Amino acid sequence: MQGIADVNAYLRDVEIFLGMEEKVDADARPLKIPGFQVETIEFRRVSFRYPGGDRYVLKDCSFMLQGNKCYAVVGKNGAGKSTLTKLLTGLYEDYEGEILINGKDLREYRYGELKWMFSVVFQDFARYALSFRENILVGNVGGNEEHSHTQFLEQIIDKLELKSCVQKLPGGLDTRLGKLDRDGVDLSGGQWQKLAIARLLYSDAPVNILDEPTAALDPRGEAKVYEMFRQVTMERGQSTEGVHSMKDMHTMEEAYSMEKFTILITYRLGAARMADEILVLDQGRIIEQGTHEGLIQSENGLYKEMFDSQRCWYET
Ligand code: ADP
Repeated sequence: MQGIADVNAYLRDVEIFLGMEEKVDADARPLKIPGFQVETIEFRRVSFRYPGGDRYVLKDCSFMLQGNKCYAVVGKNGAGKSTLTKLLTGLYEDYEGEILINGKDLREYRYGELKWMFSVVFQDFARYALSFRENILVGNVGGNEEHSHTQFLEQIIDKLELKSCVQKLPGGLDTRLGKLDRDGVDLSGGQWQKLAIARLLYSDAPVNILDEPTAALDPRGEAKVYEMFRQVTMERGQSTEGVHSMKDMHTMEEAYSMEKFTILITYRLGAARMADEILVLDQGRIIEQGTHEGLIQSENGLYKEMFDSQRCWYET
């Protein structure tokens, strides 16, 4: 009876899995386009309803992002911020309007190419039952494991202040994480978050998206993690120190010194302030776009309203 009960639990999962729609190329591995840089991302009058839904989540949404800058997309809960990420990364294709990357329609790229192009940490990011090291390495599955890029890995761990966490683990970087293994060690929520961000930093994707992975933190905690992330990406743009000794320096330099597009998604404005430019999403479209300083000048703007109502979260 115990056996039947166990198998039944698995069968329920299999049934859900088999009931899912099939997507062509869903199992494609990330496909790197050598020398490719994302120069522009454009939404042209994009409208979208979830399959089976009767309400437009995005309606005539248009905006242009360019030059490897750091952008923040802000808006109230339910405004459609995550939906925007899902469309941009190719998870849904049945939208109206156009999404263009470097002027070319998103649907003309292969799915593997899109997988490589975007590295995303979602709010419900994965906690892999692998070792600490592997949890970061899977950020770049096409990477050269032979040289395992230890130096770069250590740099990221250091910058994200995860070093003391690793030192406390019984097997250091090779400690198995999660609860699946009898001797697996579980991390705290905050440590898992940083590990997910480390994975994103380790990837060689030209566009990084942080879609509120820090929503469980308090507003100041979130701003601090975003600040750390910003520092690492900025330093990477300025210097290639630490990768010079690697055998495959050419590819490493190409991957890690590259300026990247960064998109931060949040409804809390403390984190948005550090972006070069901010886009405000409301009722399915972008209603304001500009710098923090510019947007708080506009008296009747939504950004200004949100900023004033959230001010108390950040004041001491
Ligand atoms: P935000 O990230 O700004 O909080 P979302 O993009 O997650 O907003 O959601 C926008 C709207 O779309 C919400 O009303 C939400 O309920 C709806 N929505 C999100 N995901 C789905 C889905 N998979 N199916 C149907 N509706 C969805």
